[in-house]
Amino acid sequence: MITVKNIIKRYGDFTALREVSLETQPGEVVGLLGPNGAGKTTLMRIITGFLTPTSGRVIVDGLDISESTEAIQSKIGYLPENAPLYSDLTVLEHLQFAAELHGITGDKQKQAIREVAETTGIADRLYFTVAELSKGYKQRLGLAQALIHNPKILILDEPTTGLDPNQILEIRELIKKLGEDKTVILSTHIMQEVEAVCNRVVMINQGSVVAEGSPAELMQQFATTEFQIRVTVAGGVKEALAAVKKIKTISKVTHIPGAAAGTAILEITAEKDPRAEIIKHLAAAKLDLLELSVASQSMEDVFTKLTK
Ligand code: ATP
Repeated sequence: MITVKNIIKRYGDFTALREVSLETQPGEVVGLLGPNGAGKTTLMRIITGFLTPTSGRVIVDGLDISESTEAIQSKIGYLPENAPLYSDLTVLEHLQFAAELHGITGDKQKQAIREVAETTGIADRLYFTVAELSKGYKQRLGLAQALIHNPKILILDEPTTGLDPNQILEIRELIKKLGEDKTVILSTHIMQEVEAVCNRVVMINQGSVVAEGSPAELMQQFATTEFQIRVTVAGGVKEALAAVKKIKTISKVTHIPGAAAGTAILEITAEKDPRAEIIKHLAAAKLDLLELSVASQSMEDVFTKLTK
């Protein structure tokens, strides 16, 4: 559906994208994940034809963006990082304007507005001015504008930035629903976002793709095989450390301050599952084990590892 081939983008002497290539399939929600300044916005603006790359190609539905910019833009809905909204215009006026930009007029316009207002949940806000909308509703309006021409592809630049936790969940649900029949590319630096909505993740760091795959594949490929265990022990820190340090497979033990009086909390890193050994050695030292938990690795760990 979208093929990005060896895109290089230079701003003067600075190279923002270095030979970036990626491909999306119909009906995929692809997450561009990267820290600030990684090049996500630059890549999205190139895919949507709003920015020309220094070299490389973008092909959408068999058409080259450099030759068929308008034809491709008619297939794409783009929500930029700061959607341009005018505070004294109403939601309806914004949608009418967006429809007209795509040549949608008359009854078709009314129908298109009804449909996108319904999909994005702003049907009851049509006569509100932008100044009267919450941040979440502004974002819904931005999405409604991007959807007005029923595009096959949606490109969303950090769609949940600045929203409160409830609004984030609502917008993510909406994106997932839209992803059922559209190809969606979204950018984010929030790990939970890619885990919650994306089928595939493309990690970008300093202008290069550093990893690609489903969240599960990336976890499998890049997560460490070490065990991270946290134990709370009834007894002194010194005694607890001495008991645990006898275990050969443990590579690191750290004492975590702040435990209740008479207890110690230790964080343990080991090459092999050390749980049985921990229980045995603490018992031998006559220390009661109050709690033991295994820290599960997350996409966040993978991201930190690949982008630090
Ligand atoms: P963020 O998560 O902060 O939005 P991003 O991954 O979207 O970051 P970009 O906005 O694409 O990153 O920027 C990539 C790099 O290119 C940054 O170092 C940025 O400063 C630089 N850059 C972006 N636009 C320009 C420009 N017009 N002129 C010069 N440098 C630019």
